[in-house]
Amino acid sequence: MRIVCPFCGERELGEFTCLGDAKPLRPAAGASDDEVFDYVYLRDNIAGAMSEHWYHGGGCRAWLKITRNTLTHEISAVEPAAGVGARSAAR
Ligand SMILES: [Zn+2]
Repeated sequence: MRIVCPFCGERELGEFTCLGDAKPLRPAAGASDDEVFDYVYLRDNIAGAMSEHWYHGGGCRAWLKITRNTLTHEISAVEPAAGVGARSAAR
């Protein structure tokens, strides 16, 4: 599997680390224990297209948001994850 990094171009999988589901959002301060538990521990086990956070540690060290089909490993989208890197790539 090869991934096209928006900063480095096409690179081999070994340069990247999958950091899991990109869907959960950190609960606001003062959230209930149940909301925090869900955020920390509960993940969907999706069979199909899924957004994931990946880290390009062997390259630009950017966090990426990748849409990948978990059944076929086909990648349909790669974009910078929200944050500092996302702003610089949007230029
Ligand atoms: Zn990169």
